[in-house]
Amino acid sequence: MSNCLFCKIAAGEIPSTKVYEDDSVLAFRDIAPQAPTHILVIPKAHIPSVDGITAENSAVVAHIFAVIPQIAAAEGLKNGYRVVSNCGEHAGQTVPHLHFHILGGRQLALEMA
Ligand code: 5GP
Ligand code: ZN
Repeated sequence: MSNCLFCKIAAGEIPSTKVYEDDSVLAFRDIAPQAPTHILVIPKAHIPSVDGITAENSAVVAHIFAVIPQIAAAEGLKNGYRVVSNCGEHAGQTVPHLHFHILGGRQLALEMA
């Protein structure tokens, strides 16, 4: 997707503070952190949102969830953390490229909505 912000970040066309990278996944710090640790984990390939996950492309999602605990450990989030993916308008998704927020470093509010 040529006009997608996170595709551009994945391609290195827009700079980001990377915390993890491999062939299929990139993790970088959120530009407007909502917690002491706020990292976004994305597939390098464009998937618009959770709604775009299929049997054909879900291997990268499984891989993301194998990488997340490694990132959390590297960030020292030993007291826990939250993983969030906003899907669509009602969830407040603002960037239409699948991403998982890792939030931690303080006690997080319990509200889910
Ligand atoms: P969403 O609202 O779609 O769940 O999350 C999008 C996230 O991307 C927001 O937390 C926002 O701060 C972050 N974000 C938006 N633009 C940029 C950017 O250019 N660089 C980085 N690192 N984060 C961004
Ligand atoms: Zn994209």
